[in-house]
Amino acid sequence: MDTQPIIDRCERLYRDIGLGSVQAWKQRTGGKAIGHLPVYVPRELIHAAGLLPVGIMGGGDDVEIIRGDAYFQSYICHLPRSTVELGLAGKLDCLDGMLFPAICDVIRNLSGMWQMMFPHKYIKYLDFPQTFNDAGREFYRFEMAELLLELEALSGIHASAERLNHSITLYNANRRALAELYDLRAAEPHRVPTSELYLLQRAGNVLEVGEHTTMLHDYLGAARISNRPLRDNVRVVATGLFCEQPPLSMVRAMENSGCYIVDDDWVLGARYQLGDTPVGDNPLAAIVDSYMSGTVATATRYVEGDDKGAFLVEQVRQRQAEGVIFAAASFCDPALLDRPMGQKALAEAGIPYTSFTYSENTGQVQVIKEQAGTFADSIKLWGAVT
Ligand code: SF4
Repeated sequence: MDTQPIIDRCERLYRDIGLGSVQAWKQRTGGKAIGHLPVYVPRELIHAAGLLPVGIMGGGDDVEIIRGDAYFQSYICHLPRSTVELGLAGKLDCLDGMLFPAICDVIRNLSGMWQMMFPHKYIKYLDFPQTFNDAGREFYRFEMAELLLELEALSGIHASAERLNHSITLYNANRRALAELYDLRAAEPHRVPTSELYLLQRAGNVLEVGEHTTMLHDYLGAARISNRPLRDNVRVVATGLFCEQPPLSMVRAMENSGCYIVDDDWVLGARYQLGDTPVGDNPLAAIVDSYMSGTVATATRYVEGDDKGAFLVEQVRQRQAEGVIFAAASFCDPALLDRPMGQKALAEAGIPYTSFTYSENTGQVQVIKEQAGTFADSIKLWGAVT
């Protein structure tokens, strides 16, 4: 199979801001759908309760913001404005509820607004533990148990241990397929263009998990035998893009600048957990334990004493990258506050980096391409310049 038909389908899903595929799923199955904002929610619980989890990542560059700007001050990121715009325009009407994971004040405020804008829908602000000890574990177990009860009430389906274990198995398989895709790109970046990987990930926001995993395997099979030339590009890690997503044009500009992106943190929720969740007698506890002990280091997850700079340096080494691109959404406090820690660790390790900000509807991709291209050239010529 050729990769192109798969990627064409992914791009149609990416451009489908009215969630036509979700509407089709609802008509086909008679089920309900729950939206969730970045970065991470335990999708296994939603799935086990018979609901379709739908990742909402703002409006990208296809939405003109008219009313959304009136809801927020000018000095915050773009994602909440376009999400409000989508909501007011009825583009998210097919969602029967929305989860707002606690990642920053902006999302907290957005969840409050959503409750006022859509008082008849199920809306939940989802808190996560900030202490990774027994108290934090107990708190998170309580949060998850409450969430599951509410999801069951919404769907009318009891998430039995059997259903939970089935969902865990499906999401384990999905994470493994994504990990395989990332490993293939790192090993043979010319076979997995980053823009294609990005579109594949975005498709996972709206497709049922089993269908998405099949899509990933189909793509992997085709990509492994693809006949694309290996270029003399510089290998870089892109970081800071975990929440508001870059427009596809920016991803393409970065990869056409002379860089092979060999790791990144966009659409991070799908790869948030590092290993499998075990199936067993107490699947809810297994989901909780997996979050508490085996997730990525990222700006929205505070762990006392955690050395995020070290995580980034290790990521660079593991992927045999030659540099790092810090790309953060404009006014994204979590990303921009974490950035100096990462930069300090890289400087100490002698790893070059460059930094810029973007927004989901940024049109200035030529500037970004030139900056990434200059960065790649400087590494090729001198090895380490920031
Ligand atoms: S882009 Fe940053 S500031 Fe904006 S909602 Fe996401 S985490 Fe919060």
